[in-house]
Amino acid sequence: MNPSRIAASPLILVVILIAVFTSDAAAQSKPVLFKNATIIDGSGRVAFSGDVRIKGGKIVKIGTLKQSSDDEVIDATGLVLSPGFIDIHNHSESGLLAEGTAANQVSQGITTILVGPDGGSPFPIKDYFDKLNGRIAVNVGAFIGHAEVREQVMKNDYTRKATDNEIARMTELVKRSMKEGAFGLSSGLEYDVGFSATTEELISLSRTAAKYHGIYMTHMRDEEEGMLDALREAIRIGRDAKLPVQISHIKMGNRNVWGKSADAIALIEEARKTGFDITADAYPYTAWASTITVLVPSRKHEDRNEIATGLSNVGGADKVLVTSCSAHRDYEGKTLEQIAAMKNTSPVDIYIQIVKDGGKP
Ligand SMILES: [Zn+2]
Repeated sequence: MNPSRIAASPLILVVILIAVFTSDAAAQSKPVLFKNATIIDGSGRVAFSGDVRIKGGKIVKIGTLKQSSDDEVIDATGLVLSPGFIDIHNHSESGLLAEGTAANQVSQGITTILVGPDGGSPFPIKDYFDKLNGRIAVNVGAFIGHAEVREQVMKNDYTRKATDNEIARMTELVKRSMKEGAFGLSSGLEYDVGFSATTEELISLSRTAAKYHGIYMTHMRDEEEGMLDALREAIRIGRDAKLPVQISHIKMGNRNVWGKSADAIALIEEARKTGFDITADAYPYTAWASTITVLVPSRKHEDRNEIATGLSNVGGADKVLVTSCSAHRDYEGKTLEQIAAMKNTSPVDIYIQIVKDGGKP
């Protein structure tokens, strides 16, 4: 589960069933027979080979099937046939409004996405669903974001503990969101708005999510040196609030903890053995993306030593790629090392400049 340990996975070609065959037009069309597919049915059963017939927009038979004269046959030899994938950690909140076909998701075989991870979500959830209604090609669910409700209540004054009264008001917003269909509470405790929240605040809000059968999904407080403690905190929140926990993009985030993923897995397995429902997701690639300021966990964004350490901890300035920077579009697609060379300065100076100029995508 440690991304740095996952070798490049073999490219799996997926034929997408659901997206292609649920339209009315498909329902009218003639039967389709997929021959010789490697079938992964999503039940947990291991892959098996076989044929699948679709008729009237529905799967009517799976097995070794004979071709009939009105079948449209698709040779699926060497291909995986699977129901659509569920992407539990998706940031397409605004993207879906702009481009409802979601071709970037559908073409990867993803047919259901969950938005609102990392503590940031649409609000109110119902208004968001209303806007999407009838305009999108994928199934969408949403989490209510902890940072979202925290900001609704505390406005810009969020770098402190919330008062009991504020927590009570946040709880009301979580309750409302759960009633509007949220799947649970998400948090992003490494980011500024969530960072000052106490574990107790998260337990309180999670209890409300639990009442409506929600789960707690978290980008933990620390994915680096403090990763294991952050994982213990997530488990405590789930246990005290009595709801399942999903660890987002589990990773050992810097070189000081690389190689220690087994300790994290052991913690999770230990908790699962007691019957506690905790799961985790991981990127299928050996990199991660975030706002640049997470490189300096102390938040001293002008402290040259801290910045140098932060850059070295992730493997060096040549490993930090700027993908999006509204203040400096010419930096996009380049590493901090390349930008520094271009500007005849140091990566540390480039970091300071980017953060000063907003550090925003
Ligand atoms: Zn995240």
